[in-house]
Amino acid sequence: MARTKVLLLGASGSIGASTLDVLRKHAARFELVGVAAGRRHEALIEAVREFKPQVAALTNADAVKAARAAIKALDTKTEWLLDGDRHMVDLARELDYDVLLASVTGAAGLPAVLEAAKRGKRIALANKESLVMTGPLLTAICKQTGAELLPVDSEHSAIFQCLRGENHDEIKRIILTASGGPFRTTPLAELKKVTLKQALKHPTWEMGPKITIDSSTLFNKALEVIEARWLFDVPRSKLDAVIHPQSVVHSMVEFVDASIIAHLGPTDMKIPIQFALSYPQRIAQPVPTWPWERMSTLNFEPVDYEKFPALELGFAVAEAGGTLGAVFNAANEVAVERFLHEQIAYLDIYKTVRSVVDRHSNITQPSLEQVLEADRWARETAATAV
Ligand code: MG
Repeated sequence: MARTKVLLLGASGSIGASTLDVLRKHAARFELVGVAAGRRHEALIEAVREFKPQVAALTNADAVKAARAAIKALDTKTEWLLDGDRHMVDLARELDYDVLLASVTGAAGLPAVLEAAKRGKRIALANKESLVMTGPLLTAICKQTGAELLPVDSEHSAIFQCLRGENHDEIKRIILTASGGPFRTTPLAELKKVTLKQALKHPTWEMGPKITIDSSTLFNKALEVIEARWLFDVPRSKLDAVIHPQSVVHSMVEFVDASIIAHLGPTDMKIPIQFALSYPQRIAQPVPTWPWERMSTLNFEPVDYEKFPALELGFAVAEAGGTLGAVFNAANEVAVERFLHEQIAYLDIYKTVRSVVDRHSNITQPSLEQVLEADRWARETAATAV
């Protein structure tokens, strides 16, 4: 059997590293044909040395300067594309591959994902922004070309697996699980005084600062709700969330007969990554077997929407669609950045996003240009909103 050709955009982050682990373990099944990274050239050069892809791209100009000598010293036949964001798009548009694994964070990965969709490729999507920002556009292109969107986010991979073989009309609601973050048990009145240091301390995971803050405000879950709305083509009335501190149940689907199917497993991103690459098959596990007999309790509690209004707003944005997703995402990025620089207080993150969302005139079927314009407007507005 011919190997599945993988193009990995965003090789140097944690999803990139986990993807390379999966490819390493299943070398007879997958072939890395192209790889790209933004800044962290060391990880990219290591990947090229090991996997010898046809093409590699490094997009950040400073990183290119720093990496030139090391790239020259490589003895692989890999062709290098250096310096320039457009190389990610070039790869998605021109390279011969079967699956694009998109794990570039932020808006930078967006054009490449759209290119892959236009070519009718399979897209393993670890980049939340693609669907949050361009849900209506991206899903319309996929419908036209037959491109497949396979989720890599753990919640969405779980839902995708719960829905296998099910009838879409029989879905009663999709229930996303949320760990609740570091302030799950903190009283509302104390959230006012939350410091940067407290917000950066996640109880279970070591992650980058942006996603750690997003997990504490539940903005991360809000983005996932919007993502789910597009990925599974369900209205807001069929989307729900529940707090589940152990994060063992990755998400659930309830059907019209009141049956609930849940997905459980180790909390390791290699599992959803591998499934998106091997689908519709399941192949040998990329991580050790889960010691489920040691797990004695699973807790579920309702979301306190007064304490976490970001999630409530996320449901409203999912319902509205159009350019509002891009606005919500951009305003949150700016607000978190301002909080990280201690320019605004913790609760001002939500206030900022809320005020920008309230001021936006939504365009329901936007073009990419209109999405990018809404993104730009939201960033500008959020910078001075609070
Ligand atoms: Mg997630």
